[in-house]
Amino acid sequence: MNHNQNPYAVQVSNVHKSFKDNEVLKGISFSAKKGEVISIIGASGSGKSTLLRCINHLVVPEQGEIHIGDDVLRSVVQRGGRVSTADAKLLDRVRERLGMVFQSFNLWSHRTVLQNVTEGPIHVKGVTRDEANRYALELLAKVGLSDKTHAYPAQLSGGQQQRVAIARALAMDPDVMLFDEPTSALDPEMVGEVLRVIRDLALEGRTMILVTHEMKFAREVSNHVIFMHNGLTEEAGTPEDVFDKPKSERLRQFLTPLH
Ligand code: ADP
Ligand code: MG
Repeated sequence: MNHNQNPYAVQVSNVHKSFKDNEVLKGISFSAKKGEVISIIGASGSGKSTLLRCINHLVVPEQGEIHIGDDVLRSVVQRGGRVSTADAKLLDRVRERLGMVFQSFNLWSHRTVLQNVTEGPIHVKGVTRDEANRYALELLAKVGLSDKTHAYPAQLSGGQQQRVAIARALAMDPDVMLFDEPTSALDPEMVGEVLRVIRDLALEGRTMILVTHEMKFAREVSNHVIFMHNGLTEEAGTPEDVFDKPKSERLRQFLTPLH
């Protein structure tokens, strides 16, 4: 097989995940072609974060496979039910190609903005400090933070911290960016500056999987939208399908103005 012909960046197939007796994911499948933006929407508790965390095995599913390009993350269920990733070395390599941005920015508080962005490339990828600094400055300019390179996270607003977190993820040159409600912890006036950065990434053709409550934004940037309900895909399709012609009653309810 010619590996360059694989059009998929991510394929999630039949993923099941339980926490004790609570079956949170009940057999979810979806895929993202290279360059696509997939948005995952749904009520709180429907399993969106768990699904996103299964993609990089931060949460290891009991069942199902995650294809990242041509690599496949599989799970091993031991006797007694403990679940672990099948190949830890492969997981390390795959994780380098997946950038993740959380709701809570998770920056290193004792490091400057520049150090936050260069840490991964220097220590994980073995990039020289000069090269890492050069690329970090480029990325910080891109997210509008050239004047904050020597600031510490506590000196920044939430919107600025989240833009640093995005630059930090991009510094690893990931094949896929995973976003888990990147604007949910922000004051309303800072949501726009973060969405602007994510929109630019979409326009550049980055592959992204985005859990979001920003419906207008999801509609605008996504190739496909997945509506989750109780650990299953309740409905999925193009933004037009999902937002203009919802078929499921639950999706219709979810989309009514109060949400
Ligand atoms: P969403 O992101 O859609 O709000 P989550 O994936 O965070 O949903 O959570 C789905 C369900 O899984 C919830 O009932 C939540 O309490 C449960 N859950 C998530 N993570 C854990 C965990 N680490 N341990 C136990 N239960 C969890
Ligand atoms: Mg969540």
